[in-house]
Amino acid sequence: MTNRFLDLAAPGLRGLRPYQPGKPIAELEREYGVTNIVKLASNENPLGPSTRVLTAISEAAAELSRYPDANGFELKQVLAQRHGLPADRITLGNGSNDVLALLAEAFLQPGAEAVYSRHAFAVYSLVVQATGATHRVAAAHPAEHAQPYGHDLDAMAALVGPATRLVFIANPNNPTGTWLDGVRLEAFIRSLPDDVIVVVDEAYFEYVDESAYPDTSRWVTRFPNLVVTRTFSKAYGLAGLRIGYGLSGTGIADLLNRIRQPFNTSSIAQAAALAALQDIDHLARGVKLNAVEMMRVRRACEGLGLGVVPSVGNFLLVDMHAPAQPLFEALLQEGVIVRPVANYDLPHHLRISIGTAEENDRLVTALARVIAA
Ligand code: PMP
Repeated sequence: MTNRFLDLAAPGLRGLRPYQPGKPIAELEREYGVTNIVKLASNENPLGPSTRVLTAISEAAAELSRYPDANGFELKQVLAQRHGLPADRITLGNGSNDVLALLAEAFLQPGAEAVYSRHAFAVYSLVVQATGATHRVAAAHPAEHAQPYGHDLDAMAALVGPATRLVFIANPNNPTGTWLDGVRLEAFIRSLPDDVIVVVDEAYFEYVDESAYPDTSRWVTRFPNLVVTRTFSKAYGLAGLRIGYGLSGTGIADLLNRIRQPFNTSSIAQAAALAALQDIDHLARGVKLNAVEMMRVRRACEGLGLGVVPSVGNFLLVDMHAPAQPLFEALLQEGVIVRPVANYDLPHHLRISIGTAEENDRLVTALARVIAA
């Protein structure tokens, strides 16, 4: 379809393609008439939120006629305490995605450049392109590396130049599950000119169990050009509510606060996030389930002869040793939704989120069937 408004749109929009989300369960039901569907396609928490969070949500529902607290005072207070930072360094977002988009809007324009890695989270490319700025995409580590397809900080540093305004780093990265250790990451940030803003996206922070993995929220007081993003969508099980946040110096937080929508996080989302932060046991349960089940799914995939990239997140990147799209479609017929990643330049891989034991059993059975077929 030709779009006669294309020429009227901002230049960045012309080549922009919408983000491809995981296939929703209802869509598969509609299209294929399949029921009893298992969705392992969007790195969601299979346990969902705790009952404590659900109670907080229904209590907050009583105030739905009111606008939310535009400043998210209570939630920011608790986050500030958690991170040992003043609340004026926190930017709440409609998902951490919102904070990524605000950063691009605040610091990019035609002529400016943003650096990120090949195979990095797709939203970096989208938010950069929307501004008309130039992408500088660094080569990733090769498949044989200890962090296959992961960020190569030397290659990224080599692309930083006078026009660079933003550098995006996903730690760990989605869809690869690869990660960066604190020593190397800190040296990289220190090496950057202080007019280059580095965004460390820690959407899967709570899942990572590696002693050398850094908590970069502790670095924001040292590096005024650092922004760390976190989310309630993954380990906290609140993907549907859309709430995340950025931690930064006050200078960057001030700018993001100027351009964000006044009510960019809903009252329900704020209340749910507050309750989720209190429920440490539920968080720990989800993280433990993920560790146990990820190992089990990994072994099962390896047992089927597939290649598995070691992951510190709640998903696995699996080399199907064949074009993955037909296998993705065959899995849909089995009622199992995973994620094709050809849009990440990984046409032979599927990304599989870790579910409950039952969901993972369904996945493994379906995988065995479609591979055999
Ligand atoms: N960063 C990474 C690496 C992600 O995988 C995701 C979700 N897929 C996000 C950010 C955005 O998550 P949200 O907007 O739900 O916080």
